[in-house]
This record gives sequence, structure tokens and C-alpha cells, in this order.
Amino acid sequence: MSRQLRVAIVGAGPAGIYAADILTKSDADVTVDLIERDPTPFGLIRYGVAPDHPRIKEIIKALKRVMSNDAIRFFGNVAYGDDLKLEQLRTFYDAVVFATGARRDRDLDIPGIDLHGSYGAADFVYWYDGHPDVSREWDFQPHAESVAVLGVGNVGLDIARILAKTADELLVTEIPDNVHEGLKKNAAKDVHVFARRGPAQVKFTPMELRELSHSPNIDVIVHPEGFEFDEGSMDAIRASKSQKLVVDVLTKYLATEPSGAAHRIHIHFCQNPVEVLGEDGKVVGLRTEITELDGTGNVRGTGEFKDWPVQAVYRAIGYYSDQLAGLPFDTNAGVVPNDGGHVLEIDGSPLPGAYVTGWIKRGPIGLIGHTKSDANQTVTMLLEDFEAGRLEAPEQPDREAFDRHLDSLGLHYTTWEGWERLDEHELGLGESHEHQRERVKVVPREDMVRIARS
Ligand code: NAP
Repeated sequence: MSRQLRVAIVGAGPAGIYAADILTKSDADVTVDLIERDPTPFGLIRYGVAPDHPRIKEIIKALKRVMSNDAIRFFGNVAYGDDLKLEQLRTFYDAVVFATGARRDRDLDIPGIDLHGSYGAADFVYWYDGHPDVSREWDFQPHAESVAVLGVGNVGLDIARILAKTADELLVTEIPDNVHEGLKKNAAKDVHVFARRGPAQVKFTPMELRELSHSPNIDVIVHPEGFEFDEGSMDAIRASKSQKLVVDVLTKYLATEPSGAAHRIHIHFCQNPVEVLGEDGKVVGLRTEITELDGTGNVRGTGEFKDWPVQAVYRAIGYYSDQLAGLPFDTNAGVVPNDGGHVLEIDGSPLPGAYVTGWIKRGPIGLIGHTKSDANQTVTMLLEDFEAGRLEAPEQPDREAFDRHLDSLGLHYTTWEGWERLDEHELGLGESHEHQRERVKVVPREDMVRIARS
């Protein structure tokens, strides 16, 4: 193909940036524009990774190197669906890759889930990570000394750890000042994490599990129910080194006497949440059905129930993607239907010029690194389509046409240079902070945009 390939990627999290990297490293003459709803790049690395996980945030360094390529541009504060839709994008680009991830909580349909004091993990994560679109205040109840976390994935552990740590322990991190102030109102002393299956079926990873005990303020107490492994559990332990390590760490915790730390994280197995209990509209407990392993690694209910007096419930049972304007959506799986790269219409035919990568493509599972192989698969398909002449040329292929379009819409978009200004500003706030912190995040959207565009 002699013409330049023009690609828009919607979503500037790791999935989108990896796709841009692979595209620009290919043999094709290609330019890429990343279009992002947040004023900042990096998606869930900025607004999903817990603030006390700076190691994961190191990935940002590699993503910044990708973004320094002149063939890649960033347009932040532009909302796909509201500001632009697929048909408009197709007038400027040969192809559009959706890498919008999964930003909200999967629903849990049990009685009482809407009571005051029952929260979704994603909402709490957005709050402590300072996302501009959520309230600045978290509704900590002064009496909520016992709280429940539902689900044993890494998000469940993040929530449990942040709730069990003291506000001052988190002050070394990049949490915004309002979050530090808010966390001082967190009264939680006992954080109960509930797994509906057994220790060999947990989804969290060994390092994240070990890390729970690194805080001097936290005892990790694993409760013994569920430790009689069935054949399915033994198979899971034999099949995966990571699962075996997780079970080893859990077994160690099980045998460890609590040190008398001020806060405790309890991990309970074989407890399926069936109701959030309320009084006067507020959470006063959680009812679980006790389960037993059925030999296959799954569980069945025993018909026995247990009530846990907790004053708040956080469900961390997985994320769910937003539906995208003009694209089909599989509401069960929470993904855009696809064949590994192309967006597929309900009848199975490809939607011309539309591709997916990352969590919107395969669901909200897997670590950040996994999105690289995903991006590779999608980009390979896109490049094959381009080479084979299956992509319709855009009406307005010149790079500046898109900028002019955004200007004509009166959008206050942010650019990569703008992000660099905001980045500097946040680092400066950290340096001049009375506690000399690495960074202090700016939270209000209008402030972020103003600094980025100044
Ligand atoms: P996840 O790993 O899929 O875990 C979801 C948990 O919720 C599972 O334990 C699941 O149990 C449970 N669950 C689902 N439906 C339930 C229900 N109706 N009732 C009770 N429990 C239910 O999801 P995640 O924790 O949101 O993590 C998403 C991805 O991000 C994962 O790949 C994770 O590793 C990654 N992540 C990594 C980090 C890190 O620090 N490395 C941090 C955050 C997220 P079942 O297994 O029984 O379904």
C-alpha cells in the first residue's frame, strides 16, 4: 500500500498504547492518534492501580517512551460517544481500534446490595486514585469498624489493604490530599474478605497476597473452613505454580498467630454472599451461604447460612465494560463481539474498519502485560486488512484535519505536551508538599485541563 495508514485508537490505557507501539514499529507507513476521555493518558495505571503499588506504576516509564514517537499523538478530554462517534472517526482514519477497557463494577444481584454502606470496588478505587468524575468525599461511616469485601481477586485485596492501612501509611504515595483527609475517617478495624469457593480457586496472585502482611498495622487471619482440598483443588494446585504458591502462603497465614496489630484482614473461604442485611436503609450485616467443594473445583450450597455483623460491604467481583456508541455489545460477557481483533456485528459479519483490543475485547481478566499479546493479534489483523486493500480510505486523511474538527466542535482537548505540563505540575506539588511526596495528583477535571492547556 503506498498511502499512509491513519489509525485512531480510542482509549489511552496500556492496551491502547501497546497497540500504538506495535503499529508504529511495523513496516507500514502509519500515524496514530490516541483519543481518551480522561484529560490524562495511562487509563487504569493512573486510575486503577492502588497508590501503594508504585512498582506497577513503573510501567508508565515504558509507555512514555512509546508516546515520545512523533507518529503517535494524544487527544485527551475527548469522550467517544458524546464528542465523536465511529462514523465521524472513519472520515479521518482508515481504522479505529477500541481499547476502552472496563471501568465499572459488575452488578451483584442479591437483596440489600443497594443499601447505604454497600459499595462497588471500582467506585472506591476511582475515589482513592483521584478520578476527576467521582465525588471528592467517600462516605465512610464513623461506626463501620467491621467491613466485608466480596471476591478474592487482586482488586478485592487492594480494597482490603487500603481499608486496613492507616491514612498516614498511605501519605508516602501519590494520593490526593482530599483522599488522605478522607481516609482518616475510615473506622475499619476488621476487614473480612469472602471467597465463595476454596483456597485453590482464588484469583489473586502470590505477591499481592504476601504483601498484605507487610504493614505493621495489619494481621492477616486466614480462617480454616475450606482447607479440605477436593480432587478439583488438587488438580488446580498441580496445574499452576502460582496457584500452589497462593495456597502455600494462605496455609502459612493459617498457622500464624496474630501479633495483636490494630487492624485485621480476615480471609474466609466457602462463603457465598446471598444478602446484604439492612436496618433503616443502612448496612448492618452480610448473610452468606456456607458452600462445599463438589470435587471439580466448584462449590455447591449447603443450605446453611451465616450472618456477619458488618457495617459496610464492598463488592470486588469483577469489572464491566461500558457499551460503546455505534458498536454491538455482548451484555453477558460485557465485551464487544469480535473474532480476536475485528468488531463483529450481531450476524457475525465484520464491522468495516473497527477493531478491539484489551479488556473490551476479552473481558476484565489478566495482568497489564497480557494486553501486549492482545494488541499484537489485533494489529496483525488490521495490517493484513490494510495490505489486502480491505480498508476504505478516509475522506480527510491529513493529520491536521482531525485537530481542526476538534477545534470546530469547541472541545478543550489535551495533548501529550499538555500532559507533560500537568505531570511536571503534580511532581512539583509533591516536592513542595510539607511531607515531601513524589507526586500529588490534581483531581478536578477543569484544573487538569487548565494546567495542561496553559
Ligand atoms: P477477578 O480476578 O476476576 O476476581 C473476581 C473475584 O470475584 C473472584 O474471586 C470471583 O470468584 C468473585 N466473584 C465473582 N462473582 C461473584 C459472586 N456473584 N459472588 C461472590 N464472588 C464473586 O477480578 P478483579 O479482582 O476485578 O481483577 C481483574 C484483573 O485485574 C485481574 O486479572 C487482576 O489480577 C488484575 N489486577 C491486578 C492487580 C495487581 O495488583 N496485580 C490489582 C488489581 C487488579 P469466582 O472465582 O468463584 O468466580
